[in-house]
Amino acid sequence: MKCSRCNGEARFRIPYAGLNLCEEHFLEFVDSKVKREFREQVRFKKGDRIVVAVSGGKDSMHLLYQVHKIFGEWRDFEIIAVTVDEGIGDFRVKCAELAREYSKELGIEHRTITFRDYIGITTDDVAKVDKELKPCTYCGVFRRKVLNMFAKEMNADYVLLGLNLDDFAQSIVMNVTRGDVARLARLAPHTRRVEGFVPRIVPLRRVLEEEIRTYNEIAGIPYMHGRCPYASLAIRDVYREFLNNLEKRDPAVKFSTLNFFEKIKGYVEEDVGRELRPCRICGEPTIGEVCKACELKMRYEKLKDQV
Ligand SMILES: [Zn+2]
Ligand SMILES: [Zn+2]
Repeated sequence: MKCSRCNGEARFRIPYAGLNLCEEHFLEFVDSKVKREFREQVRFKKGDRIVVAVSGGKDSMHLLYQVHKIFGEWRDFEIIAVTVDEGIGDFRVKCAELAREYSKELGIEHRTITFRDYIGITTDDVAKVDKELKPCTYCGVFRRKVLNMFAKEMNADYVLLGLNLDDFAQSIVMNVTRGDVARLARLAPHTRRVEGFVPRIVPLRRVLEEEIRTYNEIAGIPYMHGRCPYASLAIRDVYREFLNNLEKRDPAVKFSTLNFFEKIKGYVEEDVGRELRPCRICGEPTIGEVCKACELKMRYEKLKDQV
């Protein structure tokens, strides 16, 4: 099998694009998708400061690699990598170590921040006390809040997240089947400035999980292979399987899900955009009186007292 772009031997099939690619052109194919997303989502300017959220997993380590490759030589442009330690045994401690080492190798400043410091409780705490809500529900809400708080402290202009196309398609379908229009509308990237929010950018959103894994192996990008011990509890896995099954019949299904969202985004954004106000307890922007993070924390405190 010949590469669609040169005379070399093709090693990778890209069914949704009808391409067969050699190693070199596979890397180039992924690079160009990432660059295109940067161009479409954001216009960085001199003096900008960006925060890259790096969990230590394959996606965020790949993102850090791309950021360094594309913007590493820019002057007057600041990149800070940050790992949020949710307090999950020593799982994230090891991830943070790897993220720190890799950042150092790339010459990027790295920080570790914790749920313990920013929220007061950890994911292990809530998993012990709350037998009904999944720890991942707390974790996702807390992580978003902590990242936003940290980015504001840093005076950052953008937060970059390593979400891949699989994550994205899952989130879209998940919010649709739950009827959660507000959360659907708030999916990154954020094109509009909202008071109190640092816009989130998602440069990997058109790259498949499998493509990132393959790329990392070829390019020697290090990452933690283990999964979070709570991951199997997450409802997300149901959607992952659902979409992977559909993909076997229609290789482009994740792309068309994302494209559908792109088309309706403007309408749903308009619908929920103006209702944001500061949370009565913590001051972070929210749709209701109290933000989801404070609501969950109160739930935890109440359940803890009952134990
Ligand atoms: Zn080639
Ligand atoms: Zn709050």
